[in-house]
Amino acid sequence: MGFQTVIYEVDGPVATITMNRPEVANAQSSELIDELDAAFDQADADDDVRVVVLAARGKHFSSGHDLKTMLGQAEADQWSAMRETPEGKFRHEEVMYYGRCRKIHDFRKPTIAAVQGSCVAAGLMLACMCDLIVAADNAIFQNPVLRMTGAGVELLVEPWELGVRKAKEFLWTGEKIDAQEAWRLGLVNRVVPTDELPARVKALAERIALVPAATAQVTKRSINHTADLMGQSASWEYHFMAHHWMHNTRTALDALGKRQQKSSMQDVFSEHRD
Ligand code: ZN
Repeated sequence: MGFQTVIYEVDGPVATITMNRPEVANAQSSELIDELDAAFDQADADDDVRVVVLAARGKHFSSGHDLKTMLGQAEADQWSAMRETPEGKFRHEEVMYYGRCRKIHDFRKPTIAAVQGSCVAAGLMLACMCDLIVAADNAIFQNPVLRMTGAGVELLVEPWELGVRKAKEFLWTGEKIDAQEAWRLGLVNRVVPTDELPARVKALAERIALVPAATAQVTKRSINHTADLMGQSASWEYHFMAHHWMHNTRTALDALGKRQQKSSMQDVFSEHRD
């Protein structure tokens, strides 16, 4: 399959899916999100593939969602007009952000994210959908969206990745976590020299591929179910609703300068005031 924004390669039992928009720090456009989804489907369908690596070309893993089309600063895509209403915005994020990420989280085979440079906001959300994360020693993790009114991103990974107390600090301050601190907190499995990242991730993937495919997949399913029993799935469902409430508050709409949308929201509220 020919992709424009990702590179799909298979070498032995390892498929590597590489985000390929280095000129915009791998900002996740609709096209990139669609192609990631298709590439994971391809890896799922190939019985020779036992482990999938999610990597990124260029200096940075991902700067988050590409909001240029959504804010009318680039050519509109099929989702742009939909975001004009709260209902449409909900549907867009449910399908493209929340749904697609959860699909990677629930992917049948073991996955490893190879993270270098900036891993920000929805970039962090995406990396955290993988089973393991290997960080280059120049990796930086950050989620500064609260200061732009966003209530986190669509999936609140931080409490699960950092613990409750650190998650609050990380989100409220917007401060960066470097690779060593990420390792200390358990956010990443390993830190490796930046120029060795692809080779070290490949070696790790090949080692995991020595486990019989069915065994690895059953274990993944069981560990993910453990997290579900601890409330992960329910907490993500809750946060997605809370995140969307925040999208449509006066606070958020004022910040976006969307006067027309704000007045239509006020109409909705006034209809229900009695
Ligand atoms: Zn959102």
